[in-house]
Amino acid sequence: MNRAVRPPELPSIPAGTLEPGLYIVATPIGNLGDITLRAIRVLGGAALIACEDTRVAGKLLKHLGIKAKLQRLDDHASPEVRARIIDEARHRPVALVSDAGTPLISDPGYRLVREARAAGVTVTSIPGACAAISALAMAGLPSDRFLFAGFLPVKDKARTEALESLAGLAATLVFYETAPRLERSLAAIAALWPAREVAVARELTKMHEECRSGTAASLAAHYAAHPPKGEIVLLIGPPADTEAPEHDTDALLRAALADAGPGKAAGLVAKATGIERAVLYARALELKGE
Ligand code: SAM
Repeated sequence: MNRAVRPPELPSIPAGTLEPGLYIVATPIGNLGDITLRAIRVLGGAALIACEDTRVAGKLLKHLGIKAKLQRLDDHASPEVRARIIDEARHRPVALVSDAGTPLISDPGYRLVREARAAGVTVTSIPGACAAISALAMAGLPSDRFLFAGFLPVKDKARTEALESLAGLAATLVFYETAPRLERSLAAIAALWPAREVAVARELTKMHEECRSGTAASLAAHYAAHPPKGEIVLLIGPPADTEAPEHDTDALLRAALADAGPGKAAGLVAKATGIERAVLYARALELKGE
């Protein structure tokens, strides 16, 4: 059958005719193919591009063949810098990009957008890549209700408290995470909710993209044995009606045994619960023999 191939939708903003205002432009999170036609038109037509890091933005613009005036805007930008950008946006099109993905999503821009709106400047969002949304779309966890909660605290006590504060929420929890911290975060989640379904989405849109899911305890054991590399989104499914109670050591051990031998499993559960390793090792041997 001879199927007619339709040309792609034309971007809604013709080149050279951008209205003044502030344009929040999403950029790729790894795969440079994930820039939209509309984003290219806006970046090409902007009189000024505010960016988190001029070197990172410069690389993307070079790839797109766009020459533009850049202005650094990070979390430490002074009110004067923001006021200058807003003033420019009153008269000319100004774009805001972050190093990757959607600006403002664990990235700078919130104050700028708030102040631009308060000043009566038109703010337009040019949507595109966002790691949290990509991860949610592929993880196979309930997606009808979710809470994006940025990065978990680094310190153990604060991390556990942050997780506990979200314990009863009937929604998938989405966090940004770093490779070196994943093991401790998963151990903390496994200690609270060993049987909870968890997913780790890594290196999204890149060559080594992967999404691994399982119980919190089994993923804690897996990543303790195989330290990850790259960029990570960590997702926790909502509580199930039958969720194992806190410190159900058998559930923790069974999940850890799925990926590790009795010694390693006992060590991991001991770390997560504070229960003596020798006791757990003896029980792990029993469970293994069942
Ligand atoms: N604004 C970005 C967005 O829209 O996704 C997020 C910026 S935040 C500073 C960076 C974090 O996003 C990383 O530490 C990681 O947790 C997540 N991230 C960014 N790119 C990713 C990727 N390709 N794969 C997995 N996670 C990614």
